[in-house]
Amino acid sequence: MNDDLPSLMLKAQVIYRQNFPMETCFERAVFFSWGCTIGDCAFCYMSIQPESKKPTETKRSTASILAEFMLAKKLGWDIGFFTGGIGVFKPDEMEYLLKCIHEILHEKIWLSIGPLPRPLLERYAPYIKGIVGSTETINPKLHKKVCPSKPLLPYEKMFECAKQMGLLRAMTFIVGLGETKEDLPLLLDFIKKYDINKIHVYGLIPTKGTLYENAPVPTKEEQAWWIAQLRIAFPEIDIQCGVWEDRAERIDFLLKAGANSISKFKATKLFGGAVAKEIEDQAKKAGRHFRGTLTKFPEANWDAEVSQLPFPDELKRQIREKLEAYLVRMQKNRKIQEHSISVHLI
Ligand code: SF4
Repeated sequence: MNDDLPSLMLKAQVIYRQNFPMETCFERAVFFSWGCTIGDCAFCYMSIQPESKKPTETKRSTASILAEFMLAKKLGWDIGFFTGGIGVFKPDEMEYLLKCIHEILHEKIWLSIGPLPRPLLERYAPYIKGIVGSTETINPKLHKKVCPSKPLLPYEKMFECAKQMGLLRAMTFIVGLGETKEDLPLLLDFIKKYDINKIHVYGLIPTKGTLYENAPVPTKEEQAWWIAQLRIAFPEIDIQCGVWEDRAERIDFLLKAGANSISKFKATKLFGGAVAKEIEDQAKKAGRHFRGTLTKFPEANWDAEVSQLPFPDELKRQIREKLEAYLVRMQKNRKIQEHSISVHLI
């Protein structure tokens, strides 16, 4: 598999340097639920939620979502996308959330909530810069197996519509689902056809209870091979590499393969910990400046910042509460990390 990887990576690195500054960042995917009305994608943790819980009852609170956006902004994280289970929010609810998020960030975000028809794209357009199609795999046979109730065609229609409307288009691709090198032309053609601006290249996370529970974790070389091929074929495409907390040591390699940014890290839960530090160190090792922080505790007058938001008082009170809970946990992680470093130095 890796015979030609070193030369591919060298080529990809040259192309990356010609097209992008030598920096990287963490991209936060903000989730709004842990259940999904589709709920049968073969790799997804949302497909193994207890049936007793209706997907529409798995929403996070508005305050919790908005507090996370405030934190992400303060920590300098880019927003990978706002996402969650398909069909969990009604359009009115989604529009309200997007509006609130825009009040916090003052910028448009990426949205990934399944294939959207034109009227909904038009409704959300004031708050979104682009849409993400969670395509996962392009091989049609494999796609049928992996996402039996989430066909590609509606996403393809959404991409076409988004292009007509001037919205950016992103897609997801999971290495390790069963795609082979021979499938590369399919992926390249798809990107060309829909003029995709950004691709999220994840490595499979074998999740207990799913069909992929015992599947092997793709190697860093396998993930890098796809990234390098994409960088070479599309010099200007934005490539995000998704790494789980057990794979931070591969970030240097994936960045050298031509990825722009890093995602799929439990950044608030693991903030300031050993893995967070490793991610920043890996970026340096790849010769990239790391924008934002996963380790430096944010200094802010949160009370004043929340007060300025044009939200009802009760919502602001709840956001303050959620922020406090996040900050306490992050501070605790950081102290544990500092303690383990000082013990190590003694
Ligand atoms: S549609 Fe998305 S969230 Fe729902 S089960 Fe499939 S992959 Fe998971």
